[in-house]
Amino acid sequence: MRIFDPHIHMTSRTTDDYRAMHAAGVRALVEPAFWLGQPRTSAASFRDYFDALLGWEPYRAAQYGIQHFCAIALNPKEANDPRCTPILDDLPRYLVKDRVVAVGEIGFDAMTDSEERAFTAQLALAREHGLPALVHTPHRDKAVGTSRALELVRADGIDPAMVAIDHLNEITAPLVAGTGCWMGFSIYPDTKMDPDRMVRILQEHGTARVLVNSAADWGHSDPLLTRSTAAAMLAAGFSEGDVEQVLWRNPVEFYGQSGRLVLEPAPDRPAEDAVFAGNSVRRGGR
Ligand SMILES: [Zn+2]
Repeated sequence: MRIFDPHIHMTSRTTDDYRAMHAAGVRALVEPAFWLGQPRTSAASFRDYFDALLGWEPYRAAQYGIQHFCAIALNPKEANDPRCTPILDDLPRYLVKDRVVAVGEIGFDAMTDSEERAFTAQLALAREHGLPALVHTPHRDKAVGTSRALELVRADGIDPAMVAIDHLNEITAPLVAGTGCWMGFSIYPDTKMDPDRMVRILQEHGTARVLVNSAADWGHSDPLLTRSTAAAMLAAGFSEGDVEQVLWRNPVEFYGQSGRLVLEPAPDRPAEDAVFAGNSVRRGGR
């Protein structure tokens, strides 16, 4: 089994995690830009962080046989701090880099006007750069935040196929289903979504345009929950093909829209991976 984790914050994880993820089948991942726990005090702090996501972290991941890509953005939480918002002016310089396969994570935290301004500006950057956008929905007032995010996506005019609405649950998934946007789900150890609840959502909504991630970050989280979800799918009667679609082909298709998702062939499946690498079609956007 091979797994692509479409949303995981490796900056906050250890080399033991990389080792365990590789053993569980993780071969590629996308690390979206987010906060550092401690609030940043300047735009320069973001530049160092983005450079680490493009340089140091892919190198670290490669030591453990995992390909690392990233999404770059001003995160919703820090969009509220005027010391941080000037980084928006620097984003175009990062959005042209080879390993940047999306704009993210953008969206809402506390649903303020400042967050909405940063969200709108960055949706436009995604559209102008022909990049997918990864949208964070708030943990409180999630349904309101999800609906507002969908309104802003429609208002921008970006192709909905280029947008993933993330951290969905049983209440918010039906709001996104049928909009053309991708549905993202973060699986957590003991709060929010778990593998069995994820399986029930897949039974209801099907396996198309669904992304499952571990989101592993500074809080209590588990980078192997993508693998646990695969096991729960198989136990519930999904086929190995279904698992491959949700945990590999879907994220490859979503981020492949950037035209930059160049996957190195795995030694055991060279032909199949080579097709993905060659066919990473650029679409939408421009
Ligand atoms: Zn995140």
